[in-house]
Amino acid sequence: MTDIRAATAAENPIPPAAKRERLSAVKGMNDILPPDSARWEWFEAHVRDVMGVYAYRNIRTPIVEHTALFVKGTGETTDIVEKEMYSFVDRLNGEQLTLRPENTPGVVRAAIEHNLTYDGGKRLFYMGPMFRHERPQRGRYRQFYQLGAEALGFAGPEVDAELMLMVAQLFARLGLKQVRVELNSLGVLAERLQHRAALVEYFGRHFDALDADSQRRLQTNPLRILDTKNPLMQDLVQGAPQLLSFLGETSLKHFDQVKALLSACGVAWRVNPRLVRGLDYYSHTVFEFITDELGAQGTLCGGGRYDGLFETLGAKPTPAVGWGMGIERVLELIQVQAEALAVPAPDAYAVIPEAAALGLALPTLQALRLAGVAVQMHAGADAGMGSMKSQFKKADASGARFALVFGGDELAQGVVTIKSLRDGSGAQVTCALADVAQWASTLQSTR
Ligand code: ATP
Ligand code: MG
Repeated sequence: MTDIRAATAAENPIPPAAKRERLSAVKGMNDILPPDSARWEWFEAHVRDVMGVYAYRNIRTPIVEHTALFVKGTGETTDIVEKEMYSFVDRLNGEQLTLRPENTPGVVRAAIEHNLTYDGGKRLFYMGPMFRHERPQRGRYRQFYQLGAEALGFAGPEVDAELMLMVAQLFARLGLKQVRVELNSLGVLAERLQHRAALVEYFGRHFDALDADSQRRLQTNPLRILDTKNPLMQDLVQGAPQLLSFLGETSLKHFDQVKALLSACGVAWRVNPRLVRGLDYYSHTVFEFITDELGAQGTLCGGGRYDGLFETLGAKPTPAVGWGMGIERVLELIQVQAEALAVPAPDAYAVIPEAAALGLALPTLQALRLAGVAVQMHAGADAGMGSMKSQFKKADASGARFALVFGGDELAQGVVTIKSLRDGSGAQVTCALADVAQWASTLQSTR
């Protein structure tokens, strides 16, 4: 193979600026820039807090997994696997790989690989990018971020409830109010098979009224017909047999307990009999947190119990339940959050009149940062540092409370001048370079 880079460089010396090709981000994949990134950090801080108080621990799995993991773990007949995955062949070893479209399969794979549940259940959470080749629109991107929580090795309804309470508490902390909770139960496989037979019979009788997608799904995955977004099929779907009426006593009890526990904690819910997941490894509770404020992309968080997934992935049966949340959608709802959008200012701006001062200034700044002081250093040694006036202008624009002046006179005496920028006093003190950490401690206490 020829080296494309070498060939292009030889034939095309650097073109004039006007003709240079500008590379842009891949369609549907977004840059998250300051100050907006502060909103993300604010969200992430709340997440860590909430996960901490529920005793969920952080797990980080690779972004790239074997394609087979998602084919099995997400499901061959899902939209994700049928048409949304970024899959590729590793050209060095021929492996079939995929950028993760969701993270539950990855977490379960890791749990199996490291035998995480050998000594009891594990409560885990993750945050990170997922990839799906969808039509980009508001609230729907090709690289998007999910927060997810998974409780592995717990069978009881109290853990289903706990996972939903955690979402409710996170939303409450974020100030989100107009979010409703919809629930359903998928029972167990035997119950679903009975329901499935009734569905096939019902939709079979109305075959001509089904759209092409649904006609195909009647064979592959009839439960998913209930999930159709086609308005022309809504009446037909309304009249279809409901899974809930096929549930036995044990399944109903599990569902009733989940509902009762949510109510006991003041979380309002509504049963939506059409909330379904078409895969065999799901069981019992499924739920969504929905807002009407984001149009068609109103599902903020979706989850449920997947007691059969460990077995599907070749491990011994292990009950599990979890959810995934679209972070962009949540942040879009939190448009105005003064706290979140406040651009953080450094504590101090280092004014360095001469490049010759850098050798003493930089170690001093290191000592300050080690003591927790946020310092923005004036940079410009390539162009003679710039005038004091322009440096003070930058100090002012940075929002810093103090200017640290590393002038020649100061350094000759082994001190730095600390000038107050924000209180109108213009007060200044000098501090021995060796004592800056001490000054830092007075700063911390007045912050
Ligand atoms: P939808 O019906 O909106 O396509 P989904 O059922 O495919 O959602 P899940 O796989 O359950 O979604 O993912 C959990 C959450 O991740 C969703 O509720 C949503 O908030 C978010 N999400 C899913 N796909 C995207 C996307 N392409 N861009 C942004 N967020 C997404
Ligand atoms: Mg989707």
